[in-house]
Amino acid sequence: MMATFHKNHLQEAFTLLQRNETDGCNLPTLQSETETLQSCIQVLPPDLVNRIAAGEVVERPASVVKELVENAIDAGATSVQITINNGGNSIRIADNGKGMNPKEAQLAFLNHATSKIKNAEDLDAIFTLGFRGEALASISAISRLACYTRTQDQPDGIQLVIEGGKLCHFNATGCSVGTVMEVDDLFFNTPARLKFLKSPKTEVAQVEEMVQGLALSHPKVQLSLTLAEKLAFQTDGEDKLKQTVTQVFGWKPENTNTLLETTFEDPLSNLKLRAVFASPAQESFHKRSKKAWWMLLNGRTVRCAILATAIKKAFEGLVPHGVYPFCAVWLEMPATEVDVNVHPTKKEVRYANSEQIFKFVVGGIRRALQEQFHATYGLHSAMQQQAQPVEQSTTQTHQYPTFATPNTLSDFTSTPAVPQNSVFWRSSSSSEHTAAPHTYSSATNSGMPTQTALAFYEPLASGAENSPVTASLQQRQWRVIGQLFNTYVLLETPKGLMVVDQHIASERWCYEALVTQSTAEKTVVQPLLSPIVLDVLSAEQVGVLEQYQDWLKDRMGFACERNQAGNLWVLCSVPQLYPNRKTISPVQQLEAVLEQLALKGEAELDTELLFATLACHTAVRAGDVLTHAQMERLVVDWLACSLPWSCPHGRPIAHTIEAEELNAFFDRPSLPVSSVYKR
Ligand code: ADP
Ligand code: MG
Repeated sequence: MMATFHKNHLQEAFTLLQRNETDGCNLPTLQSETETLQSCIQVLPPDLVNRIAAGEVVERPASVVKELVENAIDAGATSVQITINNGGNSIRIADNGKGMNPKEAQLAFLNHATSKIKNAEDLDAIFTLGFRGEALASISAISRLACYTRTQDQPDGIQLVIEGGKLCHFNATGCSVGTVMEVDDLFFNTPARLKFLKSPKTEVAQVEEMVQGLALSHPKVQLSLTLAEKLAFQTDGEDKLKQTVTQVFGWKPENTNTLLETTFEDPLSNLKLRAVFASPAQESFHKRSKKAWWMLLNGRTVRCAILATAIKKAFEGLVPHGVYPFCAVWLEMPATEVDVNVHPTKKEVRYANSEQIFKFVVGGIRRALQEQFHATYGLHSAMQQQAQPVEQSTTQTHQYPTFATPNTLSDFTSTPAVPQNSVFWRSSSSSEHTAAPHTYSSATNSGMPTQTALAFYEPLASGAENSPVTASLQQRQWRVIGQLFNTYVLLETPKGLMVVDQHIASERWCYEALVTQSTAEKTVVQPLLSPIVLDVLSAEQVGVLEQYQDWLKDRMGFACERNQAGNLWVLCSVPQLYPNRKTISPVQQLEAVLEQLALKGEAELDTELLFATLACHTAVRAGDVLTHAQMERLVVDWLACSLPWSCPHGRPIAHTIEAEELNAFFDRPSLPVSSVYKR
């Protein structure tokens, strides 16, 4: 009885809708005048209009799954089961959400029927995943759909069957609270669309990727995906991100313990970032494509160039080119600051302040990498030094420093965050295009040592007690023990014996200095007292030099001019920061840059790669014998790096043999950490 009543109502509603859609075109006054005319223009029948419109929302099985799962989540479901069979041709989504009463079930399948917005104002603050009211109408127009649904307060549920937009059944049925949607034979009545589907394997893979994204974006919802009768994955809905990631990708929990997880908030701008990502050293979590990156914004998976660039920036100089460490970021921000309405399937977004978002995300990930460095090696690096209160930095202490863990955007200084107290920066007092003496080794001794990069091999000058480097030396937690194989610098640290690769550590510092220099307002250069005639350059190299003369001077610090006769080029200045000119001459440095320029040209120039190459060329080599003071300088500089983790090619810089390991080996009780500093 109830069922027939509702079926009549629903059919009425469908008829009404059809009439409304054609009514708008009945223009009586015009009609009488144009009655006799022939027209090739026709108003399409509503079911055809629906089918066309459906194509915009429903591209493939994966988009059906997305719409239905999002509806389930919008209905407050805490558990959603997704079952896919027949290569995506049979989709079943069951949820424990609030369900629909008979009247709601009637309306839900009509075009532009939604419970999620009521007026234009609501568009500005959308908290649900759907709001257009077109998914159910579209899907049911181009498939055979069955829906079972019941609300808490209804004794019976409703079974509703629609095939190709035509209502076939509308009956009372027994079912539990929530909704089950079954969609079969997608595109059965739109053969052209059917042809565009890829192989069942590809379609199912797309569904899987879609559901992975849905599961990641809703860590509070239990989600399960069953493909061809086999459970693909299942999440527990506990809102623990690392756990969710592990479940979604079917990784072994013991392998994912070492993934980094961070939460980062900026109360001023109301931004919140949570992220789970691999460290540069975790190669098993590195991929060769951007598919390794997941971006989740206010509960949606998004495609977003800003976020992708931010992740790239955060790992820049830490992993080799073309390597993408696993990274998932969950960004939460006020709905008014972001427009998710750009794309019909709502994957692309626009921000009110994209620069701010970019910096926030880069800062968050980098800070987590820094903290991990600290935790792994027991040493603090530049960013953490900055975070310390000023008074502390001048007092001598052997206490393990308790770092303030700044986690707001305002704490994040610049990108890349090369430390203000790095040796390189303090050199500027004597630099900016002034004629420093053309020597490669000596530091000047005008009270405050200039401590330029040129003094790399020099001991710290005496009388430098007040310099920030010395202050940090006093509070540092390490001691140089010596050099091993002329390749490794050995340190005693609170954690144990640290082995530092001298080449890679020095390369890291050179790289960061180069990056900083290229982004600085003015390049710090070292004019050459006797300019070098560039007669070794090939004709091709001279061509490149001519073309990029200004860029080389302004951005790289290589000033080249023609000689008076105009037949030769001479090199007049070089970048000041190259620390080790023993192994590479200024001309060789210039040649390395010209080579990269010849390959790519300025516009496409991969500066990251260029700087990495230059840093590698100019750094201390394995095999170089270092004095104790030189090793000290090397370590101080390395720890002043913003990201002392790995070299720009992704190789690790240091390895610690932990005190516990040694103690266990020698069967000794563990020593208190402080005892190692009582010297
Ligand atoms: P939208 O999600 O944009 O509102 P849809 O066509 O996807 O449009 O859904 C129409 C309406 O149907 C929703 O607004 C909601 O009220 C109802 N609905 C759809 N799916 C469910 C579900 N799984 N549980 C409860 N209500 C649902
Ligand atoms: Mg919807």
